[in-house]
Amino acid sequence: MSRIVVLGGAESGVGAAVLAKTKGFDVFLSDKGEIKESYQETLRKWDIPFEQGQHTEELILSADEVIKSPGIPAAAPMVRKLRDRGTHIISEIEFAGRYDAAKKICVTGSNGKTTTTSLIYYLLRNAGLNVGLGGNIGKSYAYQVATEHFDYYVLEISSFQLDDVYDFKPDIAIITNITPDHLDRYDHKMENYVAAKFKITQNLSPDDCFIFDSDDEITIRHLDNIILRCKMLPFSQEKEVEQGAFLRDDKIVIRYKEEETDVYLKELALGGKHNIYNSMAAALAAKACDIDNAVIRDSLATFQPVEHRLEPVLSIKDVLYINDSKATNVDSAWYALECQKKPVVWIVGGKDKGNDYSVLNDLVKEKVKAIVCLGVDNAKIHSAFEGIVGADKMVDTLSAKDAVKAAAAFAESGDVVLLSPCCASFDLFQSYEDRGRQFKEAVRSL
Ligand code: ADP
Repeated sequence: MSRIVVLGGAESGVGAAVLAKTKGFDVFLSDKGEIKESYQETLRKWDIPFEQGQHTEELILSADEVIKSPGIPAAAPMVRKLRDRGTHIISEIEFAGRYDAAKKICVTGSNGKTTTTSLIYYLLRNAGLNVGLGGNIGKSYAYQVATEHFDYYVLEISSFQLDDVYDFKPDIAIITNITPDHLDRYDHKMENYVAAKFKITQNLSPDDCFIFDSDDEITIRHLDNIILRCKMLPFSQEKEVEQGAFLRDDKIVIRYKEEETDVYLKELALGGKHNIYNSMAAALAAKACDIDNAVIRDSLATFQPVEHRLEPVLSIKDVLYINDSKATNVDSAWYALECQKKPVVWIVGGKDKGNDYSVLNDLVKEKVKAIVCLGVDNAKIHSAFEGIVGADKMVDTLSAKDAVKAAAAFAESGDVVLLSPCCASFDLFQSYEDRGRQFKEAVRSL
């Protein structure tokens, strides 16, 4: 019996271990840190041996193949050791793809993955298809392949999850956009990050589709240098495309095969320029799955925002509080500010990933009346924006509660308080979800 060792005992690793078990492998899971109790329970239930707090070499190096969780960097000592020995290392996505015949719609990109993935899932469900949602959202892909039967999967796939993919093949691949993020994991080289995202296209065949943002220079530049043999479906807000989606007057036009359909912008449930892109990508994926135009229109009009993504929380004294805690980089915050129509009190800050804030200058000048910093070290934010909003319109806070209080003090009737932090959350919170929830809690108890 061949031996599979899974490194990492969270959602993806545990899912992979369960799938390997159901396929009859000798499975062992090892996590250098602590494994959450709920995952330990799953492992016990499936009778899968595991260890935590250590990597025991002889138990790991005996593997015929290793499934590495996306959170473990390629430079981790155990991963290096395995590579030096020539052990095949794959990702959970690669492994699960071997056992799944469903039609797969896979979404990657720097921003908009979760929104676009959820939107496509909603569309396919509304069309009555038997569809699973997974990858970076909810239950892992591997766990679902082990325990469910779907005809379609909509998978959100991060670039880390693509790192150890070889033969995995989507039927429809989507790259929402590419902007610098997580460069620390790619030797600070943008081309490595771009190449990692483009791995989603590497096995596409002529019947498959590639859906991409043709307004995105980084995407287009990379496409100039590679050859893809699949149907190309660009989306653009700047120019008409032969096949794909574009804007005409106040409508999105979707041109697929011989047919043209349109959707009024004012009918889209999700606001903001970025969500026009996401809606275009989702509509194209739906067309490529032969979904009715009426279902597409209706779904784009009724979809509810995903939690922590420009999520309206409450209006208090005619001030609307918006939770965009998932905006962990400059680009996503740019779109959040761009779509605001009212004066903004902006809550920003956290763990800076090497941000260049200057791209936000114009929007801050135009829309932001005060800034509440929510982070341990706010020096960069002060030096970026003090000259624009004024030092007296900036304060530092160390908790969601204080940030909301400070924002409420700046805000007047008709304003918006926007948490769109531009930064990771780990300096003060457990995760962006924790930050978003604490923000909402603080707003509700104002
Ligand atoms: P991801 O899963 O790629 O992180 P999300 O859908 O969770 O993307 O959105 C993350 C953040 O980026 C949110 O603040 C959201 O408002 C913003 N966003 C969503 N779609 C886009 C887009 N197409 N371009 C830029 N920012 C976006």
